[in-house]
Formats: sequence, structure tokens, C-alpha cells
Amino acid sequence: MKSENQPTRTPGSGAEAGENPVQVKLQEIIEGKGPGPKEQDLVRPGSTSGVRASAETARFLKISELYATLQGEGIHAGLPCFFIRLAVCDIRCAWCDTPDSWTGGQWRTRQELLSSVPHHISLVQITGGEPMLQIRRLRTLFEDLHSAGKKILLETGGHRSLEKVPPYVHIVMDIKLPSSGEQSHPFENNFGYLKASDEIKFVVASEEDFLRARRWIQEHDLATRFQILISPAYGMDLKKLAQWVLDSKLTVRMQLQLHKYIWGPDATMV
Ligand code: SF4
Repeated sequence: MKSENQPTRTPGSGAEAGENPVQVKLQEIIEGKGPGPKEQDLVRPGSTSGVRASAETARFLKISELYATLQGEGIHAGLPCFFIRLAVCDIRCAWCDTPDSWTGGQWRTRQELLSSVPHHISLVQITGGEPMLQIRRLRTLFEDLHSAGKKILLETGGHRSLEKVPPYVHIVMDIKLPSSGEQSHPFENNFGYLKASDEIKFVVASEEDFLRARRWIQEHDLATRFQILISPAYGMDLKKLAQWVLDSKLTVRMQLQLHKYIWGPDATMV
């Protein structure tokens, strides 16, 4: 779900050979009706469990990556965070930096996921890919993490309904701008499912993008309703964007992606 100004990706360029990147078992993922994980796909639970795993092992999610690092974005930036990156996305942002998550992934059992979360990290980010594709089973994971006292962040592209997200989950929702190539989705349909503490993120790669973000914010009064992030696409002129933000007189937060500055723009799993 991270979205930066990386070289333009052709839809499907990160797909597994021979797969249709858009329709790859999509219904199976959404419905949770696919076959269970194969034995060889399962990764044994680690010994660093910070969560009491449920005896329920039949439920599972399709996962791209699991890793611990510092949260790089938003109002939780700088805090240690465990990332659960779900596999599969049904849109194709031009500057997506996680195309490997568009397809593929490995089935992980619920117990494996819970066992992966370290004791000492209280912040867990669910990202993708597009996590809302797996919301049916994701809700169970939300319940488990919440019961274990973890704070849950959900990062979503904003193009799928957030109606089924529990209120204790902190949502970070994108609104896609023209340079993404995915600006035509009805993002406004989700405003009613967001809390005042939730974040809306605009990734800005051009002046046209910023002007469109400004229009979204003004027309829907977003800056007084939610936390608004203006996130420069990596490599953009930061001083120019800062000046646009100041000139707009909007109460929004310009953010830099911390992990890109610590580990470099091409580092993965950070
Ligand atoms: S919504 Fe999908 S294509 Fe867009 S940045 Fe996120 S993972 Fe990439």
C-alpha cells in the first residue's frame, strides 16, 4: 500500500508468470472460498509470540510480507510497528512501489500471523496490496489483535467500502490523484465510515495533483473532519510542495516518508 514516485509500473509487471494480474483468483481471495493453505505453504509459528494465538487454525489470509520496522508515515511516524502486508491488489497506481504484492503471496494461518507479532511492539499495521479484499477473514484478525491490546492501523487505497471495519481500527485511507491513474473511484462513499482521528492521505506527484487534493479537501470540508496528510511522491521538489501547502491556507499535515530517508528509496521491508 505504500505509494511513492517510483518508476512507472506496467499493470501486472510484478505478477507471477502466466497469471492475469487483475483477475488472479480475485474472487477466491474476496470470498475466502479458496482451498485451504497447502502444507508446504505454511510457515511454522515463531517463538516470539506476543499474542495468545487462538486454537482456530482453519482461517487464513494471503500474505505478501511480515516484518517489524519503524512506522514511516502519518501521525504514528517514528514508532516501532509490525507490518502485515496482505497480497493482491485490484487497482494499479502508476507509482506503486509494492507491485510484488499485486498478486502471489502465501497463505498463512491465523495462528501463524498472531504468533508473528512480537511482544514488545504494540502497533500493528495491516497494509497491502489492498487489505479490504480480504475483509471477511481480516475482521477475525482485527478481533484477535484488539483483544491482545495491540493498536491496529489499516492502510487502504480507499476504493473499496470501509463499512465493515470495526471502530477500534485506525484507518489511513488514500484518495488517489490524477498522476496515479486511479483517481476515478468514488472515494467520498467512505467518508461516512471514517472517524475524526482517522487519516486521509493524498500522494502528490505534480501541481495538478495538489490542486485536485485541495479541491477534495475544500469541497468536502475534510481538514476539519479528519487528519489530512499531504505526502510528496518520492523525488518531488519538497520546497515547492511546502509552499503550495502554505499558500493553500489549509490545516493539513505535509509528511515525509521517514523510512525512505533512513534506509533509502529502494529498500524493501522497512
Ligand atoms: S492501492 Fe494497490 S496499486 Fe495502489 S499503491 Fe496500494 S498496492 Fe499499489
